[in-house]
Amino acid sequence: MQHILQAFSLESNDSEIQKFGSGLINDTFLIVAANEKYILQKINTEVFQNPEIIGKNLYEADKHLKTLYPTYLFISQIKTSDGENFFVENGNYWRLTKFIDNSYSINTVNEPEMAFEAARAFGELTVKLQGLDLTKLKPSIPRFHDLSLRYEQFKLALQNASPALKAASKTEIDFYESNNGYVETFRKIQQDETYPNRMIHHDTKINNVLFDKQTQKSLCVCDLDTLMPGKIISDLGDMVRTYSSAESEESTEFEHVKIRLTYIEALMNGYLGKLKKNLTPSEKESLIFAGPFMIYMQGLRFLTDHLNGDVYYQISYKNQNLNRAKNQQALLEDYQLNQTKIATIIAATLS
Ligand code: ATP
Ligand code: MG
Ligand code: MG
Repeated sequence: MQHILQAFSLESNDSEIQKFGSGLINDTFLIVAANEKYILQKINTEVFQNPEIIGKNLYEADKHLKTLYPTYLFISQIKTSDGENFFVENGNYWRLTKFIDNSYSINTVNEPEMAFEAARAFGELTVKLQGLDLTKLKPSIPRFHDLSLRYEQFKLALQNASPALKAASKTEIDFYESNNGYVETFRKIQQDETYPNRMIHHDTKINNVLFDKQTQKSLCVCDLDTLMPGKIISDLGDMVRTYSSAESEESTEFEHVKIRLTYIEALMNGYLGKLKKNLTPSEKESLIFAGPFMIYMQGLRFLTDHLNGDVYYQISYKNQNLNRAKNQQALLEDYQLNQTKIATIIAATLS
């Protein structure tokens, strides 16, 4: 790897290189050089088929932030000595950034305060990127959070699945089909000209937030590969889905998969505290839909993959994707039961 470090003008002889973090998509390494630490990543080009788009989106975002908010902590790409965003070799894309010192990440949200802090960081990113010219940018994963596409993919999987497989997941198929009103709500948002695109992180799970070792407050967000134009319901919804659930999405204790209202309140406060002054009426109206949108879409994707024979999400036991779809179903059902209370929380946060 020495020549990769050299391509970024790093002294390679006295640098230590070690695998780092618990990310699932890219290969991540910590580089400890003489005076500075860095994060080196090999981009997963199965997922990101055009890494140059990531490079361009991050470059434009960084430029905007440096001009308007020079003290804001944004993980910039370090250019190669040739002035490129990546060192490319044999189809592999390598990227270097500074390591954020004094930081740590967590894998589960155990306190409402962590949900607040994380949501605050994602809200701040989007609000500070307001005004960036989105016409210069492209999606690093086209139609990533497009629920219409995910529903079409589900219908196709249903057509192709064996009768036995379908019969064994009938309850879940019925649930996801009978709740397809969410697809219609999503289409209306997509077609609504008063509903803006903004720079959205699109992967707001908790280990994409860096916390300060001393204060436990959020320092910044990381994992910016899907920072691209989108709708706020993506980021807010995935925080509702992953921070408020009392169980992880892998849990098969479905009766314990419940929405925790204190976490909803905390994350709404964190996110909307940053963004509420900037939201349009159509965005405000959609806040209650954010959680169900992302829970439904994720459950649908797990069920689709189960019907397709587990080709996308890795499994370690049979029916794991079906169980994940059941887990998301339980969460969505509990959200539906609590919808009035959640609406009250949102209204209080906006006031
Ligand atoms: P995911 O599975 O979430 O898509 P990934 O494979 O894209 O993850 P990252 O999230 O970018 O990888 O990085 C993995 C982990 O490395 C992060 O969760 C974080 O703990 C740590 N990390 C990444 N970049 C930095 C940085 N610049 N400074 C400090 N820690 C970092
Ligand atoms: Mg990550
Ligand atoms: Mg990632």
